Amino acid sequence: LTEACLAQIDTAGALNAFVHGTADLARQQAARADERLQGADETPAMCGIPLGIKDLFCTKGVASQAGSAILNGFQPEYESTVTQNLFDAGSVMLGKLNMDEFAMGSSNETSTYGNAVNPWRRGNDDAALTPGGSSGGSASAVAADLCLGATGTDTGGSIRQPAAFTGITGIKPTYGRCSRWGIVAFASSLDQAGPMTKDVRDAAIMLEAMCGHDPKDSTSADLAVPNFEAMLTGDIKGKVIGIPREYRMDGMPDEIEKLWADGTAMMKDAGATVRDISLPHTKYALPTYYVIAPAEASSNLARYDGVRYGHRATLAQGDGITEMYEKTRAEGFGPEVQRRVMVGTYVLSAGFYDAYYNRARKVRTLIKRDFENVFADGIDAILTPATPSAAFGLGEMADADPVAMYLNDVFTVTVNLAGLPGISVPAGLDRQGLPLGLQLIGRPWEEGDLLNCAYALE
Ligand code: GLN
Repeated sequence: LTEACLAQIDTAGALNAFVHGTADLARQQAARADERLQGADETPAMCGIPLGIKDLFCTKGVASQAGSAILNGFQPEYESTVTQNLFDAGSVMLGKLNMDEFAMGSSNETSTYGNAVNPWRRGNDDAALTPGGSSGGSASAVAADLCLGATGTDTGGSIRQPAAFTGITGIKPTYGRCSRWGIVAFASSLDQAGPMTKDVRDAAIMLEAMCGHDPKDSTSADLAVPNFEAMLTGDIKGKVIGIPREYRMDGMPDEIEKLWADGTAMMKDAGATVRDISLPHTKYALPTYYVIAPAEASSNLARYDGVRYGHRATLAQGDGITEMYEKTRAEGFGPEVQRRVMVGTYVLSAGFYDAYYNRARKVRTLIKRDFENVFADGIDAILTPATPSAAFGLGEMADADPVAMYLNDVFTVTVNLAGLPGISVPAGLDRQGLPLGLQLIGRPWEEGDLLNCAYALE
């Protein structure tokens, strides 16, 4: 499997999905997996499975740059808990995958490596499309069969949106399910790792290997990890699926409406009850997210100072420490990251803290309560479109106002603000033959049930 993936990666340079290859390491890990499988009574499901790892994960002795020039040359001395868990399960790392810089973006175009490309095309049109972001390299690599699965991270949709754009499955688990230790932090109260795979069964198997309690992350939940795969019965009789009316946006394309209606019909056919529900604070989710995420990012990114990691600017005679910080950060951070640092610093500044950051935190609580209320009312899972459109052309949005790009996250950010699990599953093609995804949102810690509902949609 590892050799087949390495050969496939060699033919797919144009996708720019893998940005640091680790073929030698992969072959060593694959040989160890072979040994482990010889004579074993049971075959551990992830043993010998070749994966791609998002560049946001610190991997010991292997370049880990979070898609940023400021981390040029950085090779961590330690392994992230998630990748260590996968390696302990016998998985093989083929290399590191492209992503938006510090996971900020929805198109992979803020990456210092240049964007990854979506293997899908619109009809006969050759124009290259975005694989989505920020886990765009992960999505592109899985969709193009360069690996059997990939790690992603999701702060506001970065697993689910690229999964939808490339016709694959991606789940963001409940906040606290996967350890964040060793994952370069973007917005610590929102960040979660998750698997990106061909289908729901693979997602269940890979998630089980990735997650679990980790004393090195104080927000990691001390809960047993269920056998998610065993929960995939496809039986959803008696489940109650909520359809939130606030997600029916003005100007939603017909195709997305139809996708949603078809998904609703499939859930009913499978024996679920479908109910209209209301999540009244949905309209505040994007502005809330785009205050909280930059605020946390501005604080997390303060550590890139030219001293501790990666890049340091060349200094002129007479430059002091302030010039070193300024020049290093001006050279090392791309425009989107600089924008987020400035917005975050502004909303946290003494004069504006209450008006923006504190206000956003209060609204976040209301958004979370909306979900708690419908779950208390008997809803088991919530069905929505994953994205407002299919994959867009590279350059199409990046050249527009940044807010146009932010609008892509309209269906996904609520889930991070509320800390809930959310999954995107491929659910059909648009008129131009591009994949579209549906999202299911579940109760906290009930990823097994959520995966099973998604399995019924597959
Ligand atoms: N697109 C969103 C942003 O730019 C979400 C990114 C993410 O989930 N990492 O912040």
